[in-house]
Amino acid sequence: MDYVLTGHGFASEVAAIVSAFRPNGKLIRAERPRAGECLAVGLSPGGKTASAAVFDCEEKKVEKFAPIYDNGEKAAKRAVIRAVYEALRERDGYKPPWGTLTGIRPAKLAAEMMDAGMTPEDAALRLNEEYQADEAKAGLAADVAVGQRAAGEPPPGGVSYYIGIPFCPSRCHYCSFASNPYAKDFADRYLAALEKELGFAAGYAAGRAVETIYIGGGTPSALSPEQIERLLTAAAERLPVANVREYTFEAGRPDTVTREKLTVMKRLGVTRVSVNPQTLSDATLARIGREHTAADFFRAFGLAREYFGDINCDIIAGLPGETPDDVARTAEGILGFSPENVTVHTLAVKRASLLKDAGSPLAAARDIADMLDFCHGRLRAAGMFPYYLYRQKNSPGAHENTGWAKPGFAGIYNARIMAETQTIIALGSGASTKTVRETPDGTRIERVFNVKNAEEYIARIDEMIERKRRGVVI
Ligand code: SF4
Repeated sequence: MDYVLTGHGFASEVAAIVSAFRPNGKLIRAERPRAGECLAVGLSPGGKTASAAVFDCEEKKVEKFAPIYDNGEKAAKRAVIRAVYEALRERDGYKPPWGTLTGIRPAKLAAEMMDAGMTPEDAALRLNEEYQADEAKAGLAADVAVGQRAAGEPPPGGVSYYIGIPFCPSRCHYCSFASNPYAKDFADRYLAALEKELGFAAGYAAGRAVETIYIGGGTPSALSPEQIERLLTAAAERLPVANVREYTFEAGRPDTVTREKLTVMKRLGVTRVSVNPQTLSDATLARIGREHTAADFFRAFGLAREYFGDINCDIIAGLPGETPDDVARTAEGILGFSPENVTVHTLAVKRASLLKDAGSPLAAARDIADMLDFCHGRLRAAGMFPYYLYRQKNSPGAHENTGWAKPGFAGIYNARIMAETQTIIALGSGASTKTVRETPDGTRIERVFNVKNAEEYIARIDEMIERKRRGVVI
């Protein structure tokens, strides 16, 4: 779809709301409507009204207007989003479930409303009426805002650490992450660079409470037992691992989980692991290139349970070829193991994924809605509550990912990263450090990025450290 902007430059806001209607659509900026479909988005010269019109081969098909009630850019952006939303809603005959909410953290908005004194019910009503979110989604956002309080308040001045391991045993077809096939030598060189970055970044822990450590990926458990020992020992020598409230190690791929690795994790302070089947259908697992079976998950979970009382499992709704019944079977099967956390993802097909190229048939948005409804209802019935939620681009039906926990087991790191209430020092390739500071002008959030490519990260490790030295102020 082409788009034309007149009187403003809010291209990213226009792209965000268009993607709720056309998740994998391509937007091309043009000077004027031409052949094919075009969206023209304008602000009136006096700044009082936003307009959005859909053209088909230069002929105007739909036009909608949204008044701008306040001065300032924020109000103008909201009106632009509203006008585009109304125009595409009429054009497509479809209403995205999250309405005009385009951000990745809708529950943060609900939490802000509640911090300002609203009840969860009133916050949900406002998301429904003012932002056109479906009642169920608005209610879910408010429930998540309540649920994330279960993680407690972050300690004043505290920090958390994220350590990224960009290796996997094979590449899942839906993956867009810069993961690399595991190779011992490559991983050894990566760990050497990581140790160097950790040696520097551990300095931020001095005099502060380190609340959580999260080792994610990729698949950290793709490392050998010796490499896991090396990594966790390096962390234990530099960070107060014995005093952290939560220490997570993603053992995401069941085919990488062994007793030897779990023993090392337990001995060196890990308190929580993630073992992710995504689906319990062997046919789907083969179709998406996971290279493990449901039986591998059953074995890995049973083994992990011998060591850990806090385990997360991921489910993905919308995997190619899956029906709502498949997802229901997966949810029931996982709940049979009674994990403390279940994260229900919606498949997002990004440009860098093999699935994108394979053109595999994807689930319809309506089916994904049914899959999520079933999972959420079943998890509530099992006594779990939602405590973190985020949205991704390119998700069919513009749905969300939601983390659920048993009482007493809300993942603290997950709650912090979504609420953006704590500085998270992130290490490794593709890692993004986020500092959160209170200033006289309000909360200030700044980011410092590492390069995505693992070979580049190794080669440019001194530069990554220098970026932190210059950019991280906490
Ligand atoms: S395990 Fe995760 S990071 Fe690794 S290839 Fe699969 S989806 Fe990507």
